[in-house]
Amino acid sequence: MPAGRACARPGLGVWLGAEPGRDCPRCPRLVDFRETWRAKKPDWENAPVPSFGPAAARLLIVGLAPGLQGANRTGRPFTGDYAGDLLYATLKEFGFARGTYEARPDDGLTLIDARITNAVRCVPPENKPTGPEITTCRPFLVATMAEMPNLAAIVALGRIAHDTLMGTLGWKKSAHPFGHGAVHAGPSGGAAVFDSYHCSRYNTNTGVLTPDMFRAVFSKVRAHLADAPPKL
Ligand code: URA
Repeated sequence: MPAGRACARPGLGVWLGAEPGRDCPRCPRLVDFRETWRAKKPDWENAPVPSFGPAAARLLIVGLAPGLQGANRTGRPFTGDYAGDLLYATLKEFGFARGTYEARPDDGLTLIDARITNAVRCVPPENKPTGPEITTCRPFLVATMAEMPNLAAIVALGRIAHDTLMGTLGWKKSAHPFGHGAVHAGPSGGAAVFDSYHCSRYNTNTGVLTPDMFRAVFSKVRAHLADAPPKL
């Protein structure tokens, strides 16, 4: 089925697939913003940014939304975004990425046993998606997780990613509050959620998130995955 094409599945209502189409119409404000930037910068991607990395991965990293001049320009999550410098360096350090990150989608960087996606697939004005936009985009996160048979660990980058994941997994936020370094196990097993402050420029420049704090999260993920061998 073409990406983002809605289809009716018996018992499941309308199923959207894991990737919105290039012209996804679901969030009017984001559509307007996208059209504005398509007119201003026709050489940029200016489209929903698809997940990066294999669906067979055990690790899923969930960011907030594409940055205007980063992922929205290049078409790959965190690529060309300031946040990508720390994210990809850390992934390499922990063996979740191979190659050289050059902030271009054709830099040859590959993810190993890891996949990156965003809670909201389209760039929002001022990096701030609204509540309804987050909810409207959630079916794509649901479908992304559903197509990952080996999913064992999820890193939530920031509170919005965390809250979206709690809703997606059907876990109570009151029982699983966001906290940097927190690890949440679900009521019935399955993938564990690892919280981190978002690796945004603001958080790293203000010292809210240091490279060591970020490493500590991925170190816990590695230890967790050592106990969860691939099902493949
Ligand atoms: N770029 C992304 O793709 N996601 C974020 O959350 C931030 C920057």
